[in-house]
Amino acid sequence: MLKAKVYKSTGSWYKIKTETGEWRDARTAGKIRLEGSKSTNPVAVGDDVWYRDEGDNAVITGVLDRKNHIVRKSNKLSKQTQILASNIDLLVILASLKDPKTSLGFIDRMSVAAEAFQIPALLCFNKMDTWSEQDFNEYAHIKNIYENAGISVLSVSALKQTGLIAVRQALESKTVLVAGHSGVGKSSLLNALSPSLKLNIGKTSQVHQKGRHTTTFAEMHDLGNNTLVIDTPGIREFGLIAIEEAELPNYFPEMFALLPDCKFYNCKHLNEPKCAVLQSLENGGIPASRYHSYLSILENEDIFQ
Ligand code: GDP
Ligand code: ZN
Repeated sequence: MLKAKVYKSTGSWYKIKTETGEWRDARTAGKIRLEGSKSTNPVAVGDDVWYRDEGDNAVITGVLDRKNHIVRKSNKLSKQTQILASNIDLLVILASLKDPKTSLGFIDRMSVAAEAFQIPALLCFNKMDTWSEQDFNEYAHIKNIYENAGISVLSVSALKQTGLIAVRQALESKTVLVAGHSGVGKSSLLNALSPSLKLNIGKTSQVHQKGRHTTTFAEMHDLGNNTLVIDTPGIREFGLIAIEEAELPNYFPEMFALLPDCKFYNCKHLNEPKCAVLQSLENGGIPASRYHSYLSILENEDIFQ
């Protein structure tokens, strides 16, 4: 049997790279589709697969065990899930302080997803060439919040090519998923890291807007240095990942550390007496923005099973 890695998925066709570095178009053997999973796509970008040759095409016959995978529900009511990408070593949350401003709420949702799927996260602020002194102070404040939550934080300028060495180091030999709103400079940063990519800049297509997630597909790029970057339109602005509501506090590490100190084992940290999370919030331990995101995710319910 032959082995390959899936670089692109269109739902019915896949682009795979074989162990000898050849590009092939592939489809799946029928039996993979029928395997009892709830997922609508049996094969995802990032998968290592077995295949056999069949004329000009390759046929994927099996998926090797995944180290991890990111799933989201096809829609809020659906029981079916869609695997966005698999075998991810690092989630890069690409952000910007302005033009466009990335909300802390978005960063918190992404960091919850990273925790839930057990993927280390790197928060990277781009466009630092445009920062005022006040912006540098704001960055220092945000950096402190997220480092306390176990997330590495960096600042770069894709335009002026500053800070790239640290990013390159953080990405080296990893399969990386980059999440960020349109316009934060994802294409610019990837081009700066690997000029041969030649991604279009400033031409974000309508396909990436909300509401079209189910019709967009992930693609993986070779960045050199053994680094693979997965670009999945579905994760730029997603809300629908599947986790259990009761597990949510576990995905805020600063809250998780306090849970044993709450009086009630099933404390939701809303208004319960002797809640360690609420006490820490009052004492300036847990940042208000993080607690606010916790409440907002609880209320919104999008991301729960
Ligand atoms: P994407 O939608 O996230 O892929 O963002 P693009 O890479 O297309 O960039 C969006 C806009 O931001 C373009 O006009 C870029 O020229 C600009 N941009 C990207 N990186 C930087 C940066 O580091 N500094 C500044 N000032 N502008 C940037
Ligand atoms: Zn509590």
